[in-house]
Amino acid sequence: MLPEVPPATLRLAIDREALAANWRALDQLSGQAKAGAALKADAYGVGVDVAAPVLRAAGCADFFVAHWQEVAALLRHVPPASVAVLHGPVTAEEAAFARSSGVRPVINSLAQAHRWLAGGGGLCDLMVDTGINRLGLALSDLSDPAIAALDIDVLHSHLASAEEDVPANAVQRDRWNAARRMVRHRRASLANSAGIMLGPDYHGDLTRPGLSLYGGVPCAALEPHIRQVVTPEAALIQVREIAAGEGVGYNATFVAPRAMRAGVVSLGYADGYLRAWSGKGVLRAVGRALPVLGRVSMDMTVIDLTGADDLGEGDWLQVDYHLPTAAAVSGLSQYELLTLLGRRFQR
Ligand SMILES: *Cc1c(COP(=O)(O)O)cnc(C)c1O
Repeated sequence: MLPEVPPATLRLAIDREALAANWRALDQLSGQAKAGAALKADAYGVGVDVAAPVLRAAGCADFFVAHWQEVAALLRHVPPASVAVLHGPVTAEEAAFARSSGVRPVINSLAQAHRWLAGGGGLCDLMVDTGINRLGLALSDLSDPAIAALDIDVLHSHLASAEEDVPANAVQRDRWNAARRMVRHRRASLANSAGIMLGPDYHGDLTRPGLSLYGGVPCAALEPHIRQVVTPEAALIQVREIAAGEGVGYNATFVAPRAMRAGVVSLGYADGYLRAWSGKGVLRAVGRALPVLGRVSMDMTVIDLTGADDLGEGDWLQVDYHLPTAAAVSGLSQYELLTLLGRRFQR
């Protein structure tokens, strides 16, 4: 028998109060509409087991995932009737799973509508494509008798450029309103996080924020409302002295200009701390900035410990991960920064 495994050297610090506050802020900003929550991709990397109970306790009653495989983890925390699956029933097995689990499939095509009805039907959502040309039925499909036969809870569409001030937003909104007049449904939904800030015309009955729940700021208008939720933390696993002129890490992309103290941190690109952070990232110990030296490797990152003589093996450091800032520094999107965070982080 294996002895008890020692604690991880990587963890995600999740500010649950900030997550709840972000949902409440987005719900308020949604006006007459109620805010739901996108929890696909393991709640954008935060972890469904962490995020779902917090969001439910905050008052959220509508949860969205992309894959059927994401349903089981979510149903440990929320009732089936509060869950919809965005990718829809692409196979008969998926339609059967939706029926027996009690979650709603989002119907994205006429073929999916037929498949759902052939399996016995039941309450579902419908996605109408109003211009993103991704998932969803065309407006011209909506007069098909199969659509009239559906029992639709939420009629959805999805904005392509909600975080930009472009005419395409109003075009999509108008097509979504046209769809609302054509199809019998209980609730209508259009806005993601940024879409909420486009105003009441975009709210309908339900909004579907994802990114901003978890601290992402897709547009300036959201900035005052959203708090950071996720802070990666990693342990120092070695401290070393480096002589002037020595290179650090693969390909010696950093060469020490002077004798310096450096630390090796248990965090690498296999954990989602990509090579984009090489020579750019910053870790922190009680406020002090400890810059990344040289290349990030698979399991390790070297940092400058100059002036941090008190730090040693086993000490924990925080990674600078304020999403809008981190996106600007790394060149990665805020969505990527969250969803990249790997499985070695204890959540
Ligand atoms: C992911 C997703 C959302 C959430 O979008 P954010 O930009 O993360 O707020 C909303 N609706 C649909 C259909 C999605 O796929």
